[in-house]
Amino acid sequence: MFSRMEEENRLRLEALSRTTASERAGLTPIEDGKHIFLECSACRKPLVDIWLTHPDMKTITTLSANCPFCGDKSYPKEISGVFHIAAGNGVYIYDVVQDDDNNQTIKLKVVK
Ligand SMILES: [Zn+2]
Repeated sequence: MFSRMEEENRLRLEALSRTTASERAGLTPIEDGKHIFLECSACRKPLVDIWLTHPDMKTITTLSANCPFCGDKSYPKEISGVFHIAAGNGVYIYDVVQDDDNNQTIKLKVVK
């Protein structure tokens, strides 16, 4: 027999387990939006895959990536909405540096 508090806790946990982390954070469920790719401006190697998951949101972020192959970098791209990033083939992300204007630089290294 559950006490009233145990019962309330159980119901709260059940409700929590039915929502995703993004819903709990106040976001709508992720959406399969378009992909935007960052490639090196010098050697043209593909560096980062940007996947838009909340394209309707108003956040503006400018993304660029360093190129671990030639030492140059990608052109900056302005992204509207919320996104996920993944490293291109043969590279991995070891850091993302953000400045006060919401410019983010994705730091990449070559997979050994
Ligand atoms: Zn390059």
